[in-house]
Amino acid sequence: MKFVDYVTVTVRSGRGGAGSVHFRREKYEPNGGPDGGDGGAGGSVLLEGDSQLYTLLDLRYNRHHFAKAGEPGAGAGKSGKAGVDIVLRVPLGTIAKDGESGEILGEIVEDGDRIVLAQGGRGGQGNTHFKSSTNQAPRYAQPGEAGEEREVTMELKLLADVGLVGFPNAGKSTLVSSLSAAKPKIADYPFTTLEPNLGMVGFDDWRSFVIADIPGLIEGASEGRGLGHQFLKHVERNAVLLFCVAADVEDPGARYATLVEELEAFSPHLLHKPRMVALTKMDIVGPELADAWVRDVLEGFPDDVEVVPISAVARQGLDRLKERLWTFVDAERKADA
Ligand code: GDP
Ligand code: MG
Repeated sequence: MKFVDYVTVTVRSGRGGAGSVHFRREKYEPNGGPDGGDGGAGGSVLLEGDSQLYTLLDLRYNRHHFAKAGEPGAGAGKSGKAGVDIVLRVPLGTIAKDGESGEILGEIVEDGDRIVLAQGGRGGQGNTHFKSSTNQAPRYAQPGEAGEEREVTMELKLLADVGLVGFPNAGKSTLVSSLSAAKPKIADYPFTTLEPNLGMVGFDDWRSFVIADIPGLIEGASEGRGLGHQFLKHVERNAVLLFCVAADVEDPGARYATLVEELEAFSPHLLHKPRMVALTKMDIVGPELADAWVRDVLEGFPDDVEVVPISAVARQGLDRLKERLWTFVDAERKADA
């Protein structure tokens, strides 16, 4: 299973600054020669590979990138200031295509790789350049070159960092949608999720990871019944497994044990993956009872697994869950690098 994220942005480079028409004027040199400086180059828009990034989330929220024009040249041979380049940082593996023709502009493979999406216009030459034996006082300078504008589509294959494991109705889809920019389908009956839904989870800074909500694990999944088999194949690739157990089941600890057994029967090595438990739908318990209830329920879980109580609906515990998941994702990426 491959998931591809697409983001289309509009980029525009800056026009070059005009060359200057100017003549030296000094006290003892009333008819000085031409001294008009060149215009500055317009800013370009570039892509740059950044091995710290894993999603195109930033671009999704910022779709317009317009670089500034270069400034015009001036007298005394002064060049105009260049427009500052805009550098869009993207994860390794990002492919840039022209949004209209589909032509591949390039692929970012390594840290620091650069692709020019829109080249800044060249600055015009000042009149100094046009002095000749026949024309000692050219009243002409070049205008700056125009910038360019285009749509660029970025493509990135995504691998889920966090895989959600849980029985139907455990609240997986709801959790993905409340943690992330993705809006998976949610309904009130089992097997709503017929294909993996990916969500991109972003922080306020550069950090982001991909979370996958996959078809519900059912008992018997290890024998290939129902949707389970396909699901488990995908999960093998995740860096962290987040077991989701709803607070409204009879015995959450026992439910967790059943999930672990299912996984073990399918693929024992999955059990060596880092894992956490999200105890979902905590709003059902009610705040006054929650602490005592959680203490009680936690006794039913083994000591070696971290259990984070959350409510996707009431948006409780989500920041903590995100941060905890991040520590696993980050460790896995560092081990990979
Ligand atoms: P999935 O099958 O594991 O993907 O579960 P869903 O996300 O589809 O949720 C199953 C049902 O539980 C839906 O009716 C949701 O509205 C409900 N649900 C999910 N999260 C919460 C929660 O935090 N609180 C409450 N009260 N209900 C929830
Ligand atoms: Mg679902």
